[in-house]
Amino acid sequence: MNAKLDSGVTTRPVTRQTYDEVLVPTYAPAAMIPVRGAGLDVWDQEGKHYLDFTSGIAVSSLGHCNPVLVDAMTRQINTVWHLGNGYTNEPVLRLGAALTEATFADRAFFCNSGAEANEAALKLARKYAHEKFGPHKSRIVSCYASFHGRTLFTVSVGGQSKYTEGFEPLPPQINHINYNDIASARAAIGDDVAAVIVEPIQGEGGVIPGDIDFLKTLRELCDQTGALLVFDEVQSGVGRTGALYDYMNVGITPDILTSAKALGNGYPIGAMLTTEAIAQHLNVGSHGTTYGGNPLATTVALNVIEQINQPAFLARVRDASARVFAKLEQLAADYPALFAKPRGKGLLIGLPMALEQKGRAKDYTKVAEKLGLMLLIAGPDVVRLAPALIVSDAQIDEADRIMRAAADQFSAG
Ligand SMILES: *Cc1c(COP(=O)(O)O)cnc(C)c1O
Repeated sequence: MNAKLDSGVTTRPVTRQTYDEVLVPTYAPAAMIPVRGAGLDVWDQEGKHYLDFTSGIAVSSLGHCNPVLVDAMTRQINTVWHLGNGYTNEPVLRLGAALTEATFADRAFFCNSGAEANEAALKLARKYAHEKFGPHKSRIVSCYASFHGRTLFTVSVGGQSKYTEGFEPLPPQINHINYNDIASARAAIGDDVAAVIVEPIQGEGGVIPGDIDFLKTLRELCDQTGALLVFDEVQSGVGRTGALYDYMNVGITPDILTSAKALGNGYPIGAMLTTEAIAQHLNVGSHGTTYGGNPLATTVALNVIEQINQPAFLARVRDASARVFAKLEQLAADYPALFAKPRGKGLLIGLPMALEQKGRAKDYTKVAEKLGLMLLIAGPDVVRLAPALIVSDAQIDEADRIMRAAADQFSAG
């Protein structure tokens, strides 16, 4: 065995406290450390079982260690890992073909995360606007409470000041409007706008579906001004809302679409999709990334798309969604002092805390976690559910049972 591996670095005991000692404290992870997953089942270091309704923040849509993905990955791992951008590879070509066939897009650019996909989209929109209209056309319009990633550009475009404070100076020429506010969209989108970026359903901002009329207005204003409409489908994409991408549900086609999260089911990959004419503005050398489109990531994504983009699979997502909504509506009705009416689409669902429980979503999810159910929050006031899309009726019923038990304990203080 390799001497270095033999020295114990790979096997030394680690605990939640190790996190506080050696990692940069950007997160506040749960007390338990998950060590194994299969489907929606997760086990921690103590062997305790959890039902996972987080999917690693809407990522592992086909479940943990999905056997088809494990098999495809294992074969690719024994074939070739990485080649660099001086060479293309078969999986990336197949993935590009699959995604352009399945969507409005003619061209795909691959990277490693949602932030990078949005970074690529915004850079492309700027370059397109500058080359087509001139350097005055550079403004970016985005929505308050939106989330587009954590690079300095994408975090500035995201409309949450808590994520930009302390990182100034921020890139200029970025304006924010209220989500679903048509009047402020009309006021903000003028001839100097290069791009309007929007989540068709706001995820991190509290699981808020976009109004069709609002999204339609954005499309019209972009058409009138020559701005490009970017749909950030990093969270809403890859089957999560019951269509391959949510733009298909709302019937409004963007100029650029970004995808990540569930695209790799947990293996890092991001994608920017666009049309032929727009893609031509990112010519050789103008943008790139070392790992983008590498054979491992694209093999996983190809097999993810192959499994999810099936009419029967997407129909089941919509059926599962109806069952979760029915359960949550009943839960909110039975616990009106705790919860307000659920909202969302497909299996991206927000359960707002009642007014008198403002700011306590995290406290509630901690109780549920103790009882064996992993849940997310979307801001301080909203419990977020994003189970794997393969969730069974029995698992939905079990989650409902635990949420009720947690509600009882939470009410009891
Ligand atoms: C998670 C998310 C991102 C950022 O993706 P990363 O992979 O974390 O960079 C961007 N946009 C939306 C809508 C997201 O939900």
